Amino acid sequence: MKKHIPKIALIIFVIMLVGSFFGLDLEQYLTLANLKSQQMTFRAYYQQHQVLTLLVYFSVYVLMAALSLPGAAVMTLAGGAFFGLFTGSIVVSFASSIGATLAFLVSRFLLRESVQGKFGEKLAAINQGIEKDGAFYLLTLRLVPVFPFFVINLVLGLTPIRVLVFYVVSQLGMLPGTIIYVNAGTQLAKIESLQDVLSPALIFSLVLLGVFPLIAKTLVATIKKRRVYAQWPKPKKFDYNMVVIGAGSAGLVASFIAAAVKAKVALIEKHKMGGDCLNTGCVPSKALIRSAKMLSYTNRAKEFGFKSGNLDYDFSDVMQRVKNIIQKVEPHDSIERYTDLGVEVIQGAATIISPFSVAVNGRELTTRNIVVATGARPFIPPIVGLDQIDYLTSDNVWELKSLPRRLVVLGGGPIGSEMTQAFARLGSQVTQIEMMARILIREDADISALVQSKFEAEGVRVLTGHQAKEVRIEGDRTFLVCKNETGSVEIEFDQILVAVGRAANAKGFGLEELGVVLRQNGTIETNALLQTNFPNIYCSGDVAGPYQFTHTAAHQSWYASVNALFGQFKRLAVDYRVIPWATFTDPEVARVGLNIQEADEQGIPYEVSEYGIDDLDRAIADSEAHGLVRVLTKPGKDKILGVTIVGAHAGDLIAEFVLAMKHNLGLNKIMGTIHIYPTLAEANKYVAGKWKQANAPQKLLKWVGKYHAWMRG
Ligand SMILES: Cc1cc2nc3c(=O)[nH]c(=O)nc-3n(C[C@H](O)[C@H](O)[C@H](O)COP(=O)(O)OP(=O)(O)OC[C@H]3O[C@@H](n4cnc5c(N)ncnc54)[C@H](O)[C@@H]3O)c2cc1C
Repeated sequence: MKKHIPKIALIIFVIMLVGSFFGLDLEQYLTLANLKSQQMTFRAYYQQHQVLTLLVYFSVYVLMAALSLPGAAVMTLAGGAFFGLFTGSIVVSFASSIGATLAFLVSRFLLRESVQGKFGEKLAAINQGIEKDGAFYLLTLRLVPVFPFFVINLVLGLTPIRVLVFYVVSQLGMLPGTIIYVNAGTQLAKIESLQDVLSPALIFSLVLLGVFPLIAKTLVATIKKRRVYAQWPKPKKFDYNMVVIGAGSAGLVASFIAAAVKAKVALIEKHKMGGDCLNTGCVPSKALIRSAKMLSYTNRAKEFGFKSGNLDYDFSDVMQRVKNIIQKVEPHDSIERYTDLGVEVIQGAATIISPFSVAVNGRELTTRNIVVATGARPFIPPIVGLDQIDYLTSDNVWELKSLPRRLVVLGGGPIGSEMTQAFARLGSQVTQIEMMARILIREDADISALVQSKFEAEGVRVLTGHQAKEVRIEGDRTFLVCKNETGSVEIEFDQILVAVGRAANAKGFGLEELGVVLRQNGTIETNALLQTNFPNIYCSGDVAGPYQFTHTAAHQSWYASVNALFGQFKRLAVDYRVIPWATFTDPEVARVGLNIQEADEQGIPYEVSEYGIDDLDRAIADSEAHGLVRVLTKPGKDKILGVTIVGAHAGDLIAEFVLAMKHNLGLNKIMGTIHIYPTLAEANKYVAGKWKQANAPQKLLKWVGKYHAWMRG
């Protein structure tokens, strides 16, 4: 309630002022006739008390504009009539701009949060447009005198345009109109009605002036587009509506969508259908993690009531299981399946030879659109001597036949951490090296610490703040030399797995020759429609960034295909607001939206509600009573900003919050939803309960307590 007091006070204040204006019928003084009749009196007063008159006029103008009261046109004429063209224009220009900005701020303060909260999703495209081109739109609105002054102020207040931009552009945009009206005011006798001020010809000129910035912008964009395509003649006919390069998560979804809407689509893959996720990424890693988990359970046999647990196993059998699992999933991404869906699948390496044609296997395919979905590969850091040994990456680790005895895992990100724990559980002596101060650096510090302590408890040596510099070979022994705060450390190893990030596959198949722009990190630069600087070449998945997940690749591909195939009717900006992910360590770490560290970095105020999973009945029954659910909400509001879950099945548990955030549901709704007992999902309800408790209306509850006492007699 306390937080609403300033808003309520402002509303009362505004209502009082506006009410007084109409109640006292002050409008009667703001007519052309009245102005004409009083002109001489006011002018004479101005001659005697110049500063005072200017100040009073200025203040009244600002107040009227700020309160969106009618009469701005008469007030502006009065500016000319009293002060002349020069002084009048200056005073009106500042007063109207300051007043407009105050009205804008009032609207923003009172309404923006609730409007954006309710319609945020629908307004997303408008918000993005305003953030990018808001100044242009505003300038047009200000220059064209048919858009009411006060409506622009109030509506723009609801958008994300910056206050300073609003002020400056408003002052500039209103200047021509201001000068016209002030000038008319200097010749008041000639004006019979307000319509006389703006002749149709003058309105037309202003409209021209107003739309000029937009026309110029469109023209520049068209010229740019033409220049980009200048040397590439467009074929009269195309073989395909869309050619997709790469049959990983991104390419499969893009071609699936195109085929589903009956477009003619070719999908070109040079290696294996399914790309990284199926063959060297998500699927094998999760399969390996599962086998490793079996082993970890046998080590915990006593916790589950068994005297001992002993699993006899061959590492090669475990790796065979991983291969079998890939084979089981393969049909989902197979050539047969996609051919049945209506996609023409072509095996071969694609090269883009023009924005409208792709070469493969000596054939040239002409196409209206291209979707580049060529993925990423393991990034290999420049470590001296690394190229002298057979190092492992996520590409070839699946070919291992025997378990590395001493394994160094380079990298404390999600892939490095998942592999560290899996190999340690399978029996390798693992040393995990991370250059930063902690592993899983994107997560909150205590979450990283939680995972690290679990690793250490399972026998992993975690060396954070260690930068790998050199691989040193001494006879048949190999060492990794790392620099740390105190000097350097050498770690002897049998195998090293490099997992320090992934580099986009954006080179070597025609993009450079064409002039497609890349970002500094090597990913392909796209706009929000996922277009490259060639508007008919789209891009999705790891090669586009900024996320490198299977689900974000699929999400982007939907936007890329729909924009490519239906962009002439409707174009959709990719929506990155609610992106979840999980790191499949034990405990799993899942996240959607902001965590504490990001909220702090971005200066976003938040309230934290936390529920410890050690308290949860089902987790206790499962001997998985560890971890937490952490929810960040807007202070005093039922608006979820972000959630982190650590614990068993965190990646599944977070789905409820992803849905809630996507559809603007708050913790009240989660609390009011029945969750099955006993499940891990109850943790979501309990954290909502914690939030509710912390936000309970204490004063009201005191009164309720008194009521009950009274009822007891
Ligand atoms: C070990 C590991 C674990 C992972 N775990 C997860 C996870 O649990 N969850 C998750 O969401 N993500 C995970 N990822 C990330 C996920 O695998 C990727 O984000 C996803 O595969 C990206 O899909 P993509 O289609 O962009 O690229 P890719 O899957 O790499 O597909 C690109 C395809 O393009 C082909 N190609 C490239 N150039 C050409 C050319 N010129 N002509 C024809 N074909 C070409 C390639 O052969 C490849 O098949 C993991 C990654 C790794 C490495």
